[in-house]
Amino acid sequence: TSFDDDDADSERVRVAVRLCPKNAEDLSLESDFVDCVESLPELKRLKLRKNNWKSESYRFDEVFTESASQRRVYEAVAKPVVERVLNGYNGTVMAYGQTGTGKTYTIGRLGKDDPSQRGIMVRAMEDILSHTSPLHDTVSISYLQLYLESIQDLLAPEKVSISISEDPKSGEVSLPGAAIFQIMDIQHFLELLQIGEANRHAANTKLNAESSRSHAILMVYVQRSSRGEEGNGSSSLAVTATNDMPLSNVPTILKSKLLVVDLAGSERIDKSGSEGHMLEEAKFINLSLTSLGKCINALAENSPHIPTRDSKLTRLLRDSFGGNARTSLVITVGPSSRHYSETASTIMFGQRAM
Ligand code: ADP
Ligand code: MG
Repeated sequence: TSFDDDDADSERVRVAVRLCPKNAEDLSLESDFVDCVESLPELKRLKLRKNNWKSESYRFDEVFTESASQRRVYEAVAKPVVERVLNGYNGTVMAYGQTGTGKTYTIGRLGKDDPSQRGIMVRAMEDILSHTSPLHDTVSISYLQLYLESIQDLLAPEKVSISISEDPKSGEVSLPGAAIFQIMDIQHFLELLQIGEANRHAANTKLNAESSRSHAILMVYVQRSSRGEEGNGSSSLAVTATNDMPLSNVPTILKSKLLVVDLAGSERIDKSGSEGHMLEEAKFINLSLTSLGKCINALAENSPHIPTRDSKLTRLLRDSFGGNARTSLVITVGPSSRHYSETASTIMFGQRAM
């Protein structure tokens, strides 16, 4: 694919890679620690080293070193998607990678004490709130967890059996039964995310599951109305006249949706060593991530058919990627050569999406 072609750019998936800092375990093993990845941000390349003799470098749309700020990552990865959402199109931002490499840090960090640490969910909401007016627009959210092909409502844990429904005409995906909260300000949103996090913890304890094995999905619904008399000049709303009706006084409603997804850890679960519950888990995690991979490959190849039917994750994403929707994927990797094969497989997932 060409990188400078704007048209091609809007069709396919934008893929960034973020390298996380060494963790305590990496540092304690420093003596025999060899980095297996090296970031070359100016070249937008990531070098993967198998051993002293063999290394390969891969190009991405964006490459972030371990010291890249949350703000830079947001601006390069999520902001273009958020801007499209504000103009009435759906969009998706996802993080994919091995557990411990910074997916939640990138996507879900609240930064309560230090706003510079805020992750993509919070920054996206700040951006959306600052470009909408409570008078004319509504911004609302649902927050869900997807675990073993079942959906839990993180904001209303008492709700059970939430289903995915698709409008046969418009193709619009909705979740009848999921709680929807209208957001008035960022403080309110931070509180809801925190409640969601606590509920996620409680649900997983009850299910005897680890949060690294489930997907966390934030859905942001934006509904904007614009009136003709305001549309002059400064408004960034795309208002289109469908016939000869004068635009003034006719409110135009724009509805769109942003999905922000903190995916389950991409590490292979050892099926041979798993029994019962664990085996079920392995099968389902592999199912949703494998089917996500297939959809992303199809998008990257501009295929007319995106195979979204195979898993709940991809059914949920159906109207938020492909077509007019825009998708950004951040893959997260760690430096340690102990995790060479997981890192290599994460990089390949990202490469296939481009
Ligand atoms: P994951 O969600 O992929 O399992 P986390 O986001 O929980 O990984 O990250 C694991 C740990 O590493 C956390 O303590 C997190 O704060 C830290 N971390 C990850 N990425 C970064 C980064 N880019 N800068 C600073 N700390 C990071
Ligand atoms: Mg996480």
